[in-house]
Amino acid sequence: MPVNVRIVQGLQEAASILASDRGAQLLGGGTLLVRDINEGVMTEGTLLRAVDPALLAMNTGGARVELGAGVTMAMVLAGRDLSYLHAAARGIGGPAVRTTATIGGNLFAATPYGDFTTALLALDAVVTLHAGFGGARVMPLEEMLANRARGGVGLVASVGFSRPAGADAFRFVKVARVRPKGVSVLSIAAHLPQNAGRISGARVAYGAMGPTPLRAKAVERVLEGRSLDAATIAAAKTAALEGTQPATDAIASEWYRREVLPVHLGRLLAGETS
Ligand SMILES: Cc1cc2nc3c(=O)[nH]c(=O)nc-3n(C[C@H](O)[C@H](O)[C@H](O)COP(=O)(O)OP(=O)(O)OC[C@H]3O[C@@H](n4cnc5c(N)ncnc54)[C@H](O)[C@@H]3O)c2cc1C
Repeated sequence: MPVNVRIVQGLQEAASILASDRGAQLLGGGTLLVRDINEGVMTEGTLLRAVDPALLAMNTGGARVELGAGVTMAMVLAGRDLSYLHAAARGIGGPAVRTTATIGGNLFAATPYGDFTTALLALDAVVTLHAGFGGARVMPLEEMLANRARGGVGLVASVGFSRPAGADAFRFVKVARVRPKGVSVLSIAAHLPQNAGRISGARVAYGAMGPTPLRAKAVERVLEGRSLDAATIAAAKTAALEGTQPATDAIASEWYRREVLPVHLGRLLAGETS
């Protein structure tokens, strides 16, 4: 059976097809799916192209930000109000990949991919899902990623999050052996709002340190209520590996990822560039 391409207008219709046909996959920018076809990994099934304009919506100017799942990395980079996300978007492949790679596709990209999702996790993002029945529902991104392994998550229509508190409050680093286009050894995103000089509501996330991007909850606990000084950074580095489960792959060994994570976390918290 060949691979079919089906074009539908509405998100709900696309979600219904995804729910009823296990061989159907939503086509985002196709940087992973089309590669699978070219390499003979995907030989049958349906690629579903949804042309609903909601997928390309960008509400970026206010305190609450909403990005359609079809928004590409290039669109993020063109968004002046999204400068805090530029480092994460710029880290995805080269210019050709960024022109088509979508936010929605990044949410489903297998480790060590998922750098943009790591940034969204540190922004405490929620996703709006269409599961094919019962309309749309909103779910924390962390919960969606936990459900992802089981499959059947449904169609992600958009992601939403609160704009970071200030220019220095959101930090992102991608660690790669080949620059500028190498795949991640790991990535780290941190949202560090401060109140009277003390961190309040810290969110830290890692990419490529587990089966999906994950929150560094032990680090968040260490940071909470403290000033970002040398003692706090040292304590955060000590807690850095808790909850991580990195893989060994062609990019790096599990050992290497564990070795370098605390170093890069310390640099990110200290405001040093890696
Ligand atoms: C050369 C190269 C370099 C790369 N470098 C990086 C990198 O540095 N960092 C990184 O994170 N990634 C990287 N990637 C992987 C990939 O390009 C990105 O993760 C990209 O964001 C995937 O998005 P896409 O739209 O192309 O996904 P697609 O290939 O269209 O889809 C991928 C998966 O997501 C599902 N999907 C897509 N959109 C939705 C949706 N809205 N709802 C439900 N399911 C959906 C699809 O069904 C499919 O299963 C690279 C890829 C290539 C080819």
